[in-house]
Amino acid sequence: MIQLINLKKVFKEQKTVNEQAAVNDVSIKIKKGEFITLLGPSGCGKTTTLRMIAGFEEPSSGSILIDGQDVSYKQPHERDVNTVFQSYALFPHMNVYSNVAFGLKIKKVPNEEIKKKVSEVLKLVQLEGYDLRYPNQLSGGQKQRVAIARAVVNSPKVLLLDEPLGALDLKLRKQMQFELKHLQQKLGITFIYVTHDQEEALTMSDRIAVMNNGKIEQVGTPDEIYEKPHTKFVADFIGESNMFEAKVKNYQGDLINLVIEDGQDISIKADAEKKDLCSGENILITIRPERMKFSKTPEKGKNSVCCTIKERVYIGSIQKTIAQLKNGKEITVSEPAGYVFDYNNNKDAFVSWEYEHGVV
Ligand code: ADP
Ligand code: MG
Repeated sequence: MIQLINLKKVFKEQKTVNEQAAVNDVSIKIKKGEFITLLGPSGCGKTTTLRMIAGFEEPSSGSILIDGQDVSYKQPHERDVNTVFQSYALFPHMNVYSNVAFGLKIKKVPNEEIKKKVSEVLKLVQLEGYDLRYPNQLSGGQKQRVAIARAVVNSPKVLLLDEPLGALDLKLRKQMQFELKHLQQKLGITFIYVTHDQEEALTMSDRIAVMNNGKIEQVGTPDEIYEKPHTKFVADFIGESNMFEAKVKNYQGDLINLVIEDGQDISIKADAEKKDLCSGENILITIRPERMKFSKTPEKGKNSVCCTIKERVYIGSIQKTIAQLKNGKEITVSEPAGYVFDYNNNKDAFVSWEYEHGVV
């Protein structure tokens, strides 16, 4: 439904200091009714991408198609797209009803119809009865609900949301994440959502596009992005990862044998995406902390590397343990609290994980 083709944006100011493009050759196809999130660190080009889709910013090159129509250089109001900002951008001198009704009034929708639509949409965002309040009489969460109501009342094809929950406290943000997701499912509107918060992206999205330095590094479902990161950046940015430098030794049945940086041997499953590795090749292996377990003796049929336990940290429902390989490289292991292991510091132990949990 929406297609970005080799989209690029270089700001004038960036040219003068020879900075990289804000958005650099971004291509992606977004399906109708999809909840897609642009996820990446501050400055990676998320807002600029969104502003080009909205029509607030002209691309330097490349194009934007909505339903097959090239809208790259159309005015914002000529696109069937609305935007919700972190700052809410409500009209302070208008009450909730007028804020939500504003776009419909401009479009000269009959008053009776406006009344019906506004009351429907206020119900949808759980603000029934707030019609006459002014923005300064609302909490942050309520203001954001008004902004969302205003953005969906004219049933746009696409809603763009730029860190819309960023100003809310943690608990409210978590609650609003679910509310927004449910609202999106009810309305069937395509959502393009921007956040730097990986947990938010994993919770809400059908698919995530991970951005870095103006480029998309990987697009996939939350599960794919978390379990099969394609690049070092993605593995690092989303969740915690243990990363080892490794050298390919040989293939053995459905396994590939490797030697890691401190000289110990491990293996990975030779599934489809790893089949093109040659012996002698240097690669990076990532393993999620929760895929690892400690034991006193090596475990059979898994990877088991020798390490020294350094430190143990409680984080409520899980406990984190920092161990060290022989070369000093630190490993983080997350285990459910209550798991019984003798965690004395400076004690030798083995850390084990299944062959399939090592990702190249
Ligand atoms: P994000 O939303 O991911 O934090 P932005 O899209 O806002 O990132 O910014 C991407 C890059 O473009 C940054 O390096 C930023 O400094 C630059 N940039 C953004 N807007 C402008 C602008 N109006 N003029 C010049 N540079 C800009
Ligand atoms: Mg931004």
